[in-house]
Amino acid sequence: MKKIYNFNAGPSMLPKEVLLKAKKDLLNWNNLGVSIMEISHRSLDFITLTNKIEKNLISLLNIPKSYKILFSPGGARGQFSAIPTNILNNWNNTSDYIVGGYWSNEAFLESQKYCFSNKINIRKNFYQKQKILSMKNWKLNKDSKYVHYCPNETIEGIEIFEDPISENFNNKIIVGDFSSTILSKPINIKYYDIIYAGVQKNIGPPGITLIIIKKNLFKKNKITPSILYYKNLLKYDSMFNTPVTFSWYLSGLVIKWLKKKGGLKKINIINHKKANLLYNYIDKSDFYFNNIHKNNRSLLNITFNIINPFLNNFFLKESKFLGFLSLKGHNLIGGIRASIYNAMPIKGVKKLITFMKYFKKKYG
Ligand SMILES: *Cc1c(COP(=O)(O)O)cnc(C)c1O
Repeated sequence: MKKIYNFNAGPSMLPKEVLLKAKKDLLNWNNLGVSIMEISHRSLDFITLTNKIEKNLISLLNIPKSYKILFSPGGARGQFSAIPTNILNNWNNTSDYIVGGYWSNEAFLESQKYCFSNKINIRKNFYQKQKILSMKNWKLNKDSKYVHYCPNETIEGIEIFEDPISENFNNKIIVGDFSSTILSKPINIKYYDIIYAGVQKNIGPPGITLIIIKKNLFKKNKITPSILYYKNLLKYDSMFNTPVTFSWYLSGLVIKWLKKKGGLKKINIINHKKANLLYNYIDKSDFYFNNIHKNNRSLLNITFNIINPFLNNFFLKESKFLGFLSLKGHNLIGGIRASIYNAMPIKGVKKLITFMKYFKKKYG
């Protein structure tokens, strides 16, 4: 079989070592003679596993004691409804939704079912490049209870590198959708009240959703669906309904793999290296271009186009034929997107650049 490099945005590529371990475990996990998918989530074996995963996650992300880790069903989109219903106890409360791309806008749209939400657009066109306003210029509303934003817009390839520490955030509950950037770098958890992420981008296979939440936010209410109700997830150790055990288990293997690789500081250096290689090549070519301002270029979702747009389709066809999977940009914006999460080795990025050079030579 030819060597495949998988650039899918999510579900995304997993480390080979992890898949080999899962393969080994598949018919006989933990010496039980069966797979992890066939045992009770309430068994001692499984609970021992989830406790270990929690410990590893706490040490990897350096999560303070004042926070709790939950795993929820429903993906990141489930959290779009869970956030307003869990945090606000009154329909008349308001929230601020910072919109810099598709996913933050989707979160805003869903929240409107549950509260008055203000949409605050932070994306600007700056000499034909997309740029994000700096945080101190985000015009938050005085009486909003929480502010929601997305540090990495997976579809557009826009990342916000600032921490939410400017004065305008004072006294607000700060919520971040970290779905596509979690575990790619160290996070100052203490600057946030709630961090959530669907695991299928940078943690594991689709299924569970990670929530890191400040302990003082478990509030009683009568409207949140029970499976998304934080107090309930807490009470049942994230097992109110049957959790997606395989996703949980495999995410645990990836977390262990990441610790072994040297943790988040180390992986962040590698992620910078990979992204720089690709952006540098795109910038100096007179054939490809990226339209995101340098301050906001995503390290993990790299979007670009060919100056002659008719060539995009040829690029996608030829690259696929040669083993570069899923380079097609999201349907909403078209073009090309290379998602290079933690599991993508530097070699994969170098190979992609080699292909890009070859393609340019052929058609440029
Ligand atoms: C993929 C993604 C989502 C949606 O995730 P689901 O788990 O499919 O609901 C939401 N936000 C961001 C930033 C994403 O990348």
